[in-house]
Amino acid sequence: MIVGGGISGIAAALFFQRRAAPGAKCLVLENHPIFGGEAKQNEFLVDGKRLIAHQGSAIYQLQQPQSFLKQFYDSIGLTSPKLTYQKWAGPQPEMPLSRTPYDAVGMDVGQYGFWFGANFGHKPGLWVMDPVRKKLEGAPISSATRAEWVRFLTGASLDGKPFEHPKFEGDAISRYLDTITLEQHIQERFGLSQETCRKFLSPVEGGGAGLGPDALSAYSDYAFEALQPVADETGAMDEMFPGGNATIARLLVKSLNPAAIDGPAGVEGVSRNSVNFAALDAPGAPARIRLSATAVSVRHDGDPAKASTVSIAYEKGGKLYRVKARSVVMAGGSWTSKHIVKDLPQNYSQAYASFYRSPAMMANVAVRNWRFLYNVGLSGCRWFDGTVGNYMEVRKLALAGDVDPTISPDSPIVLSLKVLYATPGLPTEEQGNRGRTEMLGTSFREYERRIRQQFTDMFASSGFDAQRDIAGIILNRWGHAYLSPQPGFFFGTNSNLAPRETLRKAPFGRIAFANTDLAGAMDHRFSILEAARAINQILGV
Ligand SMILES: Cc1cc2nc3c(=O)[nH]c(=O)nc-3n(C[C@H](O)[C@H](O)[C@H](O)COP(=O)(O)OP(=O)(O)OC[C@H]3O[C@@H](n4cnc5c(N)ncnc54)[C@H](O)[C@@H]3O)c2cc1C
Repeated sequence: MIVGGGISGIAAALFFQRRAAPGAKCLVLENHPIFGGEAKQNEFLVDGKRLIAHQGSAIYQLQQPQSFLKQFYDSIGLTSPKLTYQKWAGPQPEMPLSRTPYDAVGMDVGQYGFWFGANFGHKPGLWVMDPVRKKLEGAPISSATRAEWVRFLTGASLDGKPFEHPKFEGDAISRYLDTITLEQHIQERFGLSQETCRKFLSPVEGGGAGLGPDALSAYSDYAFEALQPVADETGAMDEMFPGGNATIARLLVKSLNPAAIDGPAGVEGVSRNSVNFAALDAPGAPARIRLSATAVSVRHDGDPAKASTVSIAYEKGGKLYRVKARSVVMAGGSWTSKHIVKDLPQNYSQAYASFYRSPAMMANVAVRNWRFLYNVGLSGCRWFDGTVGNYMEVRKLALAGDVDPTISPDSPIVLSLKVLYATPGLPTEEQGNRGRTEMLGTSFREYERRIRQQFTDMFASSGFDAQRDIAGIILNRWGHAYLSPQPGFFFGTNSNLAPRETLRKAPFGRIAFANTDLAGAMDHRFSILEAARAINQILGV
């Protein structure tokens, strides 16, 4: 039995299917009405066109040819991970565009802007165009702040020497980085003041881990490098499907149960065809995914060291059900696993108590065209002291499924605003709690108002009209989006075992633990690797 139908849970089901004895069965419980976890997608219909955008998990990387991950991608039908993207169309001169929300290609070619809002003394605000190459010329900040910030933006270290990245997880550099905060590291490396860090970098420069640099282990910024992705011929590493890693979740489900998504296997098949919900949980099928089913209790039947079964209670449709399993993989994440496993021993619960997860909201804003950006020569921008969000990026879409082969400023697109809730200076847990309260306590109407206001402030002068141009808004509110690792998370403190290692090194009786948060980095590759490890532990291989 597997709790959690995100990438980790479905990958665990697939590893189980491939590695367990023939005839072995497994059931995945997922509390949402669709599988995918943080790798789900939104869909808009804008003037007859279907637009897709990611809800959370967005990008993936090309892997080393002989790597475990490359072989795994191949095995689920991601055989051509290097994608082809929309081409430029229309009479207007071409503008280079990013493939993902994080590329910011405009930074290098003068198509990027920083917006300083009313708090900087200009109403409604002030654009600083081409901020990196023009060294923040015209920004309403002191010359000392400008010098520091430019150093950070251009990657110029304080001592002029190149920074030596960790070579592998656990080397001396990575261990040192885990003893300090990311903020301390940025201060050491670029000579930034705490004020500059907190005012201009937070929370975006801690974005991969949900909070600002003050709360995070410095190693959290480098943990992703441990998987050593491969750059393509342009130097780019990241690929993205229109709906982000939802496509990877669909490939996993199709591999697990071919009848669960209509049509042929592979990227085109799962992108164009519908989920066959009845087949997902078909009686008698070797692997079943039960949606809208929330596990509430997982407990060994008797002494965990000797028990031969585990009892699981779950809620579905207002009713409580009970199943027995030979073993369980908890793939739902630290924030629910620690409450659900009722007989969890103290060392495991203490370990889970060191996992802090922070909220994030992905506001997907469908616009009928993006001429208001093109008119001022922007493909992406970042704003400070705004009412919602910090940055956005026009992206060209990968040609997977029903996607227009071309893009122009007249194309309808989705702009994704990732909203993080950092309160620099407060303890990590408190930042998370405050953020959740704010995110969940703010109505859709209020967020809609703020988004319209933010866009109007920034783009009314280049022709934006909220009433006319915004076709739809979807808010994806993730209460426990990111694991935000504090110093010591990765390698432990005072020679104590790192909390994640307690949960990874051995299962508790018949219960093993998966989910990307065990790696300390939010990345679908870790979801897969943690799932593979958990299944091996369960099967004793
Ligand atoms: C905003 C955002 C952006 C991201 N961007 C990227 C990116 O670009 N690339 C990347 O690789 N990663 C990204 N990630 C990281 C993302 O976490 C992973 O890619 C991956 O999707 C995580 O999969 P998972 O299965 O480990 O966890 P999850 O996706 O969290 O899946 C766990 C599932 O279990 C369910 N569950 C929990 N408790 C229970 C219960 N008691 N009963 C039943 N079900 C339960 C949850 O609701 C969830 O559906 C991003 C994450 C966020 C939040």
